[in-house]
Amino acid sequence: AEPERCVLVTGGAGFIGSAVCRHLVRGGTRVINLDKLTYAGSLSALAEIAGSPHYRFVQGDIADRALVARLLAEERVDAVMHLAAESHVDRSIAGPAVFIETNITGTFHLLEVALDHWRSLDGAAKERFRFHHISTDEVFGDLPFDSSRFDEQSPYCPSSPYSASKAASDHLVRAWQHTFGLPVVLSNCSNNYGPHQFPEKLIPLTITRAAAGLSLPVYGTGENVRDWLHVEDHARALEAVMTRGAVGETYVIGGRAEHSNIAVVAMICDLLDARAALANGKRRRSLIRFVTDRPGHDRRYAIDPTRVERDLGWRAEIGFAAGLAGTIDWYLADRAAQPMAIPLVSVEHMPASAGGA
Ligand code: NAD
Repeated sequence: AEPERCVLVTGGAGFIGSAVCRHLVRGGTRVINLDKLTYAGSLSALAEIAGSPHYRFVQGDIADRALVARLLAEERVDAVMHLAAESHVDRSIAGPAVFIETNITGTFHLLEVALDHWRSLDGAAKERFRFHHISTDEVFGDLPFDSSRFDEQSPYCPSSPYSASKAASDHLVRAWQHTFGLPVVLSNCSNNYGPHQFPEKLIPLTITRAAAGLSLPVYGTGENVRDWLHVEDHARALEAVMTRGAVGETYVIGGRAEHSNIAVVAMICDLLDARAALANGKRRRSLIRFVTDRPGHDRRYAIDPTRVERDLGWRAEIGFAAGLAGTIDWYLADRAAQPMAIPLVSVEHMPASAGGA
């Protein structure tokens, strides 16, 4: 039998990384979680596995070559799953420097150290090693409102500082394979939602504000479309890509669940109304405020996941309505447990008219 795998997960205290750590440790894989604990990282998402003998947390930066080299060697790591990144488009518009630093330069340092480690291996260990780079469908840019979708052949055309930095990191990863032979796999996923997401992104921001009866900012006319995937479905897909993906290949991952932003916000309002009415008796949809659009806002993202479904036998299992209802329940319970922990206002570009409760 194959020996137990040991995976270095970078960014494992983030929204998706923590779901990956929980999923892998539950399945018996040993996980070393390397995370800097920026504003986006939280160890509370890892409480369930914190005491497991299969799990170790190390606070540190992916750009710290000495630290990463030591972890790879002493833990005999045979796969890196690289999720550490700056991930919020609005922050990349307000302050792009850290996106260049972490997403591009940080990935470069990690590749260099992974290459040295891979070169030091031999036999079956060298054969088995993988560097899995986790990326976004936003690298492909903007789709029109038609039936077109992104797939593994889609050309790169990033629009924001965030997506441009992720595109650059994708190119670096492929170059380290073509030029130096590092065995890499890549995946580009659509928008994720689920528990433990920092409440600056659309779904958790809307849930936490709507629950509290605060205004609900929606960019532009709210017609922008995103293809939503539950984070636990994504974690399963990532394990499939890491363990069974073909070296040098890319898999685009999505849940076949396209919804406009305004439709998502309205669904959240209605689900919350059904749980508890607002004190003033109004429907929560009355809290929606259209705000000045994000500069360069892509209209539509959509994924054709045929390849990952066919080649790796993965399929999204959590339907959007059920996944959203479960996510709402999680945020309501989390808020009840720690009412002061969630910042309710974190939106830049919010006009004064939309600022009040
Ligand atoms: P997140 O912002 O929730 O978490 C990022 C984590 O990385 C945080 O825990 C942070 O502390 C850590 N980190 C940041 N800089 C670091 C550094 N220099 N060294 C070590 N750790 C560092 O992000 P997320 O939403 O979980 O996304 C994870 C990855 O998946 C990112 O690469 C992102 O581009 C990609 N992705 C996200 C989505 C999505 O919808 N959220 C969709 C597709 C792809």
